Amino acid sequence: MKIICIGRNYAEHAKEMKAETPTEPVFFMKPDTALLKEEEFYYPEFTKDLHHEIELVVKISKAGKHIEEQFAHKYYEEIGLGIDFTARDIQAKCKEKGLPWEKAKAFDNSAPIGKFVSKTKFDLNNISFELKLNGQSKQIGNSNQMIFSIDKIISHISKFVSLKVGDLIYTGTPEGVGPVKIGDHLEGFVNGENFLQLNIK
Ligand code: MG
Repeated sequence: MKIICIGRNYAEHAKEMKAETPTEPVFFMKPDTALLKEEEFYYPEFTKDLHHEIELVVKISKAGKHIEEQFAHKYYEEIGLGIDFTARDIQAKCKEKGLPWEKAKAFDNSAPIGKFVSKTKFDLNNISFELKLNGQSKQIGNSNQMIFSIDKIISHISKFVSLKVGDLIYTGTPEGVGPVKIGDHLEGFVNGENFLQLNIK
């Protein structure tokens, strides 16, 4: 499986990163070794500025390529919640030099994932989600704020990269990204329900 992440899919987050609002979905990938299903995350030694990015995640349930937007809904059944951990200090250096972001984004365990729930439980255009850090709300988003919808993202990605069963798409983070430190406890919620828990060790 592979992990495809959308960048700058929320206007307010693009603004806080001083990035332009994209005119087509921006995507990058993490390898399968980035996936973390446990509740413990060990702070990596190569960064001093690790940031949380809470994101709705779509699990691909049917293989496809060149998927038209109007048929994209047939390619996923479940929605989950994940964190796109980002070594912001390393990413800033990569951006400065025009280098790829993998060092900052694709490292081991950089993609914690919580539980998945059938998409039929949601109004896909109105899914609220939240990240709490040590009990304090840090990021609040709603799928209605996405610049590119889930179906548009799937259609766009599949023009370039074939999608396979089990692939995960992290659909972008809303504003409020910020640092975590050892000892922190992160909790992710979808429509008020706990989907994800993580201890930073
Ligand atoms: Mg992200």
